[in-house]
Amino acid sequence: MFKYKKLFNETSFRYIVKSQEKMLITELQNLNKELNADILFLGVRDGSKASTIIALNEQDIIDNFTYNLSGSPCEKVLNEGVCCFPEGTAKLFPNDKALLDLKVEGYIGSSIKNENDESIGILVALYFESDTFLAKKINLFETFSKFLCSHIQKCHLEYQTNSHLSLFNEVEVISKTGAWEYHIETMSYFFSSQIYEIYGIQVNSELSVKSAISYFAEHEHSKIEQIFKNVLNYGTSFEEVFEFVDSKSVKKWVKITGKPSVNNNGQIDSIYGAFEDITTEKEMLIKESERSERLENILNNINEAVITICSKGVIKHVNKSVLSMFKYSANELLGQNIAMLMPEPHASNHQHYLESYQTTGVAKIINIGRQLSAKRKDGDIFQMELAITQTTSLGEVQYIGVIRDISERIKSQDTIYNIAFTDNLTQLKNNKWFEKECKDLLNQASIEKKHIHVIMLNIDKMSQLNLQFGFEFGDLVLKEVAANLKLAIGNDCSIYRYNGAAFLILLKKSFIKNESTKMRINLLHTTLLDPKHYKLKVNGKSVVVSASLGAANINVTNQSYEAIIQILEHTVSKAKKLAPMGLCHILEDDIEEFDRFVQLHKILKNITESDELSLVFQPQFTNKGELNSFEALIRWQSEIYGQVSPAEFIPLAEETDAIIKIGDWVLLNVCKAIQELLHLGLRKSISVNISAKQIVEYNFSEKLIDLITLMKIPAEMLVLELTETALIVDISLVKQAMDVLSKHGFRFSIDDFGTGYSSLAYLKELPISELKIDKYFIDDIDSDDTDKQYVIVDAIIYMANALGVRSIAEGVETQKQLKYLERKNCNIYQGYYFSKPLNMSSWREMIRVESKR
Ligand code: C2E
Ligand code: CA
Ligand code: CA
Repeated sequence: MFKYKKLFNETSFRYIVKSQEKMLITELQNLNKELNADILFLGVRDGSKASTIIALNEQDIIDNFTYNLSGSPCEKVLNEGVCCFPEGTAKLFPNDKALLDLKVEGYIGSSIKNENDESIGILVALYFESDTFLAKKINLFETFSKFLCSHIQKCHLEYQTNSHLSLFNEVEVISKTGAWEYHIETMSYFFSSQIYEIYGIQVNSELSVKSAISYFAEHEHSKIEQIFKNVLNYGTSFEEVFEFVDSKSVKKWVKITGKPSVNNNGQIDSIYGAFEDITTEKEMLIKESERSERLENILNNINEAVITICSKGVIKHVNKSVLSMFKYSANELLGQNIAMLMPEPHASNHQHYLESYQTTGVAKIINIGRQLSAKRKDGDIFQMELAITQTTSLGEVQYIGVIRDISERIKSQDTIYNIAFTDNLTQLKNNKWFEKECKDLLNQASIEKKHIHVIMLNIDKMSQLNLQFGFEFGDLVLKEVAANLKLAIGNDCSIYRYNGAAFLILLKKSFIKNESTKMRINLLHTTLLDPKHYKLKVNGKSVVVSASLGAANINVTNQSYEAIIQILEHTVSKAKKLAPMGLCHILEDDIEEFDRFVQLHKILKNITESDELSLVFQPQFTNKGELNSFEALIRWQSEIYGQVSPAEFIPLAEETDAIIKIGDWVLLNVCKAIQELLHLGLRKSISVNISAKQIVEYNFSEKLIDLITLMKIPAEMLVLELTETALIVDISLVKQAMDVLSKHGFRFSIDDFGTGYSSLAYLKELPISELKIDKYFIDDIDSDDTDKQYVIVDAIIYMANALGVRSIAEGVETQKQLKYLERKNCNIYQGYYFSKPLNMSSWREMIRVESKR
């Protein structure tokens, strides 16, 4: 702390004497008028020497000189204060060469002391003649030197106050800091001008300690007294802030410091200190704290968590939301690294990230809002939206993160998702969700070069169940089955409602094919087809249903999602053929076959525009061995697949509208063939296979009639072969078309008779002219035994007779078969025994020969 008052030393003594030189010379000259000394001088101690500052010879000023103190009377004076040697001084001090040179006889000297009684300078009178009365002059000499001391002290003080202090005052004013000093012994005190300023009173006006204290708030008085007592008694320094009202009633804050000053004896003789007006700072501080309080309030009242960290990642500030969001207390967070709020691997990477940001300036997240995961105290990981801004505080870089907990939002988004992706009836996820998850899995599996396993499960005969018990009941059945299956499959797979009565099951993880996955998959299939899931109680009624399961292992590198659905539909339809509880598991090799299936499908759509289709004609004979008619059979010579059997591609074509185009093409070409027959004068009919889709087509009969009209061929020459299964697709529609066409003279043959749901009742209603015994039954005939009976063959022939229609045997390959059929009076025969189907040129050859007969 600044000590206000300083004693004068040699330098300041010399300085003061010099600055008072004129006056002092006069004073010394006056003094010498009394003393009549030959030489009178005022000197200053200068280490081991002394130098004169003013020197007189009688009344004249002489040049200053320097002399050694050692062994001189001046040395004695400086130690003892005053000395007087009336005569023989030079002899008394033989070491003092100057005295000797001047032949000094009489000597009076007195030291000039500062307040601390330290000898700084010296006043000396020298006499060349010895003077026995010299001792009488000592009093005068001493009085003068004392005057000189006090004068110099006063000058010093003035000098301090006026000169050095003016600088100090500047500082005081700028810093609004005053200085004070209190001398215990004299009970005197000093206040610098700034203190008066702070009090708002005229400088140096009356300000007692008591009145000085009265400016402070009443309740502070005892405290002020106490701290002063503590300095006085125990030397305890203080630094206190007080509220204070100045003389103009302006409220101020002052900071007062106090320190003891200890004298040479180790006693506290004074205390001193500063008196500082800190109103501005205090107000700023208050404003600042109000501002930050306001800020804090705002921060604490927003839902977002706000965290400030320093450049090292240490948490510097958190608002209340941080505490509730992360479940930590403020103490647990402040001073800790921010990584504690992050789950792995973010936590481990964060420091590195922060450092790299600071060196490279490349930010992944600063100034960019991001969705990230965060970790609560209890380890719970949640989704947050984080926005970070960079700022500086007291020159240090800080990052402020604003965090929003979006777990709720995600949950509600999930609900919206749920509605869109959940099947209402079964509460299972729907096919859209399956598509998403399946595609995700496909992506992942294709990266890892793994397989996925998908299943389509279809409840058998759902449409019949719906017809029988109503859709509501049917829905409940599906719901029950869904619940049972979901429970049964466990956590390894997910089940989805695909459509109608179909479900999809997806193994959640892709896999590498091995024995154990094979076992697991087999087990899953068995579980899914376990009859217990299908024994239900619905509305109090016991129902038993069954399912068909199509499954496929997909090597994802070459399958798209769309292809997978096709595969599944294909396999499940295959499984249906094995109902109830049919299972068809397409293995990877089978998928190649399936690819062919998909490919064929594609080609068939426009097959009639190619020239790959042709017709062959298989002759049919009477029991007398005469050519009766032909059956037209289609052939496909594919550029890619070679010869494709109609048994393979016709069912495929029937799955789409391709069969209509193909059917039209066949009919047109059969008509052309009939034209050729007519041209040769042969009225042999040609049978054409008509598929179910064709016959129920709304304009089938119209088209057909138009065609034969255009081609100018009689309807009787066309026999339309319909299978039993085609008949029952929509019996009333089929009957309608058959009626129209039969009225026009077309004839109908029932193909594959006996393999379907033959019912005499409906057969009787339809305009049929022929029943065709399928090759399947003819194959059975393998005996020469004339007594042996083939019940079905017999029954069909019997039925044909009963209906009054012809019977025709297909696939006759052996004489045995022919013999038996002949015996049973079958009317017409077709088969390899007679002829294979003939290609166009062979057929033309045949009809040419026939026409000539
Ligand atoms: P489908 O109508 O029962 O035709 C009889 C099938 O038996 C023909 O096979 C024929 O070549 C074959 N076949 C005849 N006699 C014998 C025999 O003695 N032994 C043997 N092993 N087979 C014999 P294809 O030509 O392969 O036709 C298979 C099926 O394709 C046909 O069965 C028919 O349902 C369908 N199909 C063929 N052409 C057409 C067509 O133009 N339109 C439609 N919708 N279906 C056709
Ligand atoms: Ca046929
Ligand atoms: Ca047949």
